[in-house]
Amino acid sequence: MPTTNVIIIGAGVVGLTTANLLSRHKNLRITIVSKHMPGDYDIEYASPWAGANYFPMGKPGSNLQKFEKATWAELDRLCREVPEAGIHYQETVIFGRKKDADSATGRWLQELVREDAWFKDVFRVLLKSEIPAGYDTGTSFTSVCLNTAIYLPWLLGQCVKNGVVLKRGILSHISEAVSLHHSGELADIVVNCTGLLAAKLGGVMDSDVYPGRGQIVLVRNEPGVMATVSGTDDGDDEATYIMQRAVGGGTILGGCLQHGRWESQPDPNLAQRIMQRSIEICPALAPKTGKVSELSVIRHGVGLRPMRKGGPRVEKERIGGVWIVHNYGHGGYGYQASYGSAWEVEKLVEGILGEKARL
Ligand code: FAD
Repeated sequence: MPTTNVIIIGAGVVGLTTANLLSRHKNLRITIVSKHMPGDYDIEYASPWAGANYFPMGKPGSNLQKFEKATWAELDRLCREVPEAGIHYQETVIFGRKKDADSATGRWLQELVREDAWFKDVFRVLLKSEIPAGYDTGTSFTSVCLNTAIYLPWLLGQCVKNGVVLKRGILSHISEAVSLHHSGELADIVVNCTGLLAAKLGGVMDSDVYPGRGQIVLVRNEPGVMATVSGTDDGDDEATYIMQRAVGGGTILGGCLQHGRWESQPDPNLAQRIMQRSIEICPALAPKTGKVSELSVIRHGVGLRPMRKGGPRVEKERIGGVWIVHNYGHGGYGYQASYGSAWEVEKLVEGILGEKARL
C-alpha cells in the first residue's frame, strides 16, 4: 500500500485527537506542526484552559450535536479503561432559570438545561424540593471531567507511540504546510486544526471565527459535585460552573462567555464574582466559613473559545492543488466533540485516498 504524507497544523485537543485517530492507519505518515504544544499556557491556545467536561449543547440536527453524541462513547470508554488519560466520572447537577432564556448564557446552555434533552434517558429530573431557591428546573446525571494537564500530554503520547512526528512552527499561509513534512517530501494532505487562529491564517481567513472569552479560577477545594446554572444576575454573559478535574487537577470555577473579546488578562472583579457565586451554589467548597477567603487558589486564567458562526467547520477544500481537510471552530465544545469531528476527518481523508487510487 503506498504511503501518504499528512501534515496536521495544530496541537490542541482537536489536532491531537485527529492525529491519534489517523495514526492508526499504517499507510499514513503524519507530521504535526504547531505554534503551541501541550505544556504551553497561552491566550492563542484554548485547550489547556478548558474545564473540561462533557455537557452536550449542540442544537438538534446540527453537526455539533452529531459530533457530541459520537464522542460520548469514547470518553466513557477512556474513563473506564484508561485511568492514566486523566478522565473521571462526576455526579452532575444542572439548574435552570426561565428568566435566562434570552440571555447570552441562557442561549448558550439552552439544550443542556432542557428537561427533554436527547440524553434525557440518562438523567433524573430533580424534585422541586431538590432545586435551590431562585431556580425553576433541575436535572442530575453522571458525566465526565477531564484534567487537561494530563489528557493533552497523554493524547500526544499516543500519537508519538504510533509514529507521529511533532515540530514547532508558525505558518502565515496554509500553503506553507506542504513543505514541512518530516520526511523531507511534499505533503499529500493537510489537516487544518488551527482553532481560533483560522481567522488569521492566510488561505483560510475565516471571518465566521471569533473568540468567546472565558475566565476561570482553579482552586484546591473539592465541590463533591459538578454543577452549572443557566445564568446569573451579574451580567448577561456571566455563567457559573464548577468541575473537579481528575487525578488531583483541582477544581475549575467559571466563568463567562464574552463574544468577540480578546483580552488575555483576568479581570479581578469578575474573578471575585465567579468565586462568590460558586460557593453559593456549592457550599461544600467552603464548608468552614462559607466565605470566598476559604478558597485556596492555584491559578486565575483566561482562555478564548474558538467560536464559529454555523458551528465547527469539518470539510475538505482544494487549495493550490493540495487537499486541505478543515477541522476547527469547536467553540466551547472542543473536548466533547473531539472524537466525533475527528472521525469525520478520517472519513474525508479515506475519501481523498479512494479518489486518488481511482485516478
Ligand atoms: P487550540 O487548543 O486553540 O489549538 C489550536 C492549535 O493550532 C494550537 O496548537 C496552535 O498553536 C495551532 N496553530 C494555530 N494557528 C497556527 C499557525 N498559523 N501556525 C502553527 N500553529 C498554529 N470544551 C469542552 O468540550 N468542554 C469544556 O468543559 C470546555 N470548557 C472550556 C472552558 C474555557 C474557559 C475555554 C476557553 C474553553 C473551553 N472548552 C471546553 C472549549 C475547548 O477548550 C476548545 O473548543 C478546544 O480547546 C479547541 O481546540 P483546538 O485544538 O481547536 O484549538
